[in-house]
Amino acid sequence: MWNDPPNILMAAPPYLISCDPRKIQVFLLDNCMLCQNIHLADCSSVATNVSSTNPLLQASALSRRATVLVASRKTIHMFTLSSIPELVDDVLASNNLQLALDILMSASKSDNPVGAGIPVNRLGYVESRVQFLFARLQFDVSTAEPCFKTARKHLESATRLPVDLVCLLFANSELFNGIQDARDFSSHLEELRLEVDERMHVGSELNELVPQDLIDLNIDELARLQGTQLSLALFHVFLPLVYAHRSLLLKLKLSCQGNVEFIVDDLLAVMDTVLLKGFVLWDSGRAKIPSDVETRSLIARLTEQKLVFLRSENWCDVNECEKLLLLYPEMWEELLWLYYGKSMHEKALDWLRSLTNQGTQEPEIYRRKTIEYLTILGKPYEEMVLRYSKWILESFSKPKEALSIFTDAEAPIDEPVVLKHLEEHDQRMMAVGGKPFLSILYLEHMIHQGKSEDSLLHNKLVMLYIEYILNLQKTAGDTEIISQARSSLLQFLKSSRFYSALDLSHRLHATKLYGEYCVVLSRLHRHKEALEVVIKQVGDSFKEALAYCQSLYDPNDAHTKDLYLLLLEVLMQNTMIEQAMELVETHFKELDPLKTLMMLPADTSVQTLQPYLETVLRHRYSQHRGSQVVKNLVRKEHVSVMDTHATLQRKYSVVTRTTICANPLCHKNFQGDSAIARLPNGSIVHYACLQNMII
Ligand SMILES: [Zn+2]
Repeated sequence: MWNDPPNILMAAPPYLISCDPRKIQVFLLDNCMLCQNIHLADCSSVATNVSSTNPLLQASALSRRATVLVASRKTIHMFTLSSIPELVDDVLASNNLQLALDILMSASKSDNPVGAGIPVNRLGYVESRVQFLFARLQFDVSTAEPCFKTARKHLESATRLPVDLVCLLFANSELFNGIQDARDFSSHLEELRLEVDERMHVGSELNELVPQDLIDLNIDELARLQGTQLSLALFHVFLPLVYAHRSLLLKLKLSCQGNVEFIVDDLLAVMDTVLLKGFVLWDSGRAKIPSDVETRSLIARLTEQKLVFLRSENWCDVNECEKLLLLYPEMWEELLWLYYGKSMHEKALDWLRSLTNQGTQEPEIYRRKTIEYLTILGKPYEEMVLRYSKWILESFSKPKEALSIFTDAEAPIDEPVVLKHLEEHDQRMMAVGGKPFLSILYLEHMIHQGKSEDSLLHNKLVMLYIEYILNLQKTAGDTEIISQARSSLLQFLKSSRFYSALDLSHRLHATKLYGEYCVVLSRLHRHKEALEVVIKQVGDSFKEALAYCQSLYDPNDAHTKDLYLLLLEVLMQNTMIEQAMELVETHFKELDPLKTLMMLPADTSVQTLQPYLETVLRHRYSQHRGSQVVKNLVRKEHVSVMDTHATLQRKYSVVTRTTICANPLCHKNFQGDSAIARLPNGSIVHYACLQNMII
């Protein structure tokens, strides 16, 4: 600390005073930071009225200034000790901000800050003030990014600095309409804040320490911020700090009520409007912000905050913000969400629609956004959603995506209402063949996604399909589309188990959709009718009819075990003898021979029947042989079982010379006179062995 040891060293809290032959030095006692050099030669002794146990307080109690007396060769000098704030003021006067800040930091870190002669919060106030001056300085020299980062660092370390000061740093930018506007803004905020505080009685924590002299600082001299510069400054300083302050206001709004809430709303209105302006100005110049990893994540966070801000309740002045946003056509989405946040849904939707003609983007983008918007609105805005969905349904090229208005909504509109709406749409669009029925797509989605088992819905879907296909056929629509639609319908008829086949059979009866009609008839077990339809109406009908029988035949099912006979009957009725013979020859196994022969016409020659009879007889004979073998085997097994049964039932046992004792430890023959015992299972043991076995 010293080149040569000092002659005299004395503590006068919060200072330490040292004298060497040429000068006096004043340090902070706590950390020996040098505060002042006083050139005064040949000091020989020092005295003070500051007690080291009871610092400046004692001196002030005696209504005296804390003083230090220094004697040099001919003179006694009297020095008055400044309090830390006074010292800082002096340092500030010489524009040495860093030193002022260092002194304050040291003092606030000290164990005994009161030793500095002032209350802690007063020290905090002074510190905030210096931090702000520092930030302000960055805005003077501002031309580069690091300046703004430094400024934010200082503003963040300043405790309870009013947010208007942050705003005032932007007085000379597009954020305000000139310096006077910025001043008005600041004083308006201050008035509101004071009013909140007055009404809250207990203090709102908004009562910031407003250093009036700082507001009076000559902000006219602030550097003019524009373009990328402004964007950077907003990004690093304005947006994070103002957004944080807004969160504080929101919290306050939740905790207060009545007439206070009123004013908090006013405060929020002022803050939100300027915040939105900040977001917009930042956005418009942000493309040029150099991006590193840290910046990118900050940008992402701010963008997220912006969207949350717009989409949730906010207190912006709509007219003012709308006017501003309209200046930047690329910010159409921001304006949209502003309308949303303000519940101005009709305006938002009208505007989106007008953008499809006048916007700078592809019309599809606006349509897609409309879909998203309507999806969010959902059931609470049912009438509006239905009304505005019309033009989307008519103009959007991807019908499934358009339907997400109804299918993806968090609060979906009731199915019957949507269905009716879509059916009306389909009716209108009927003239344009080939356009899929949206009601079909919607129902398919509801049935598949919702796993609906409502037979009304299933029936409705089939009816809509029928109507759609008939309409296509009537208007001679694309055959590929027709066959696609038919195969979807067939697929559904086969897979769904919930439609009422009876109702549908009436509808299908009147159409030429034979394949579909057959499926429904078979569902009703009206197989003969189904086969008749196939034989009469479908091309290559015999093959189709066979396929029908093959797919459904089950010998154990009462409904389908006679399917082939039914087919034979239908073939005979239609005098398709050739096919009938083919059937009996190839499917003799599934046909009862007697019933078959009865059904064939009486004048059929034996020669015609010969191949059939041969196959049937051969088949029957081999069946008979097979049965006989089985029968014999069964009989043999029966005898053996009876034998075992008789043995077990016998009440006596035969002992011969070869009979041996059943005791596994003995296994000896029986002598003529040995006593024997018979076990319940019929085996014989020596009586002695029995005794041993029991033990
Ligand atoms: Zn034995």
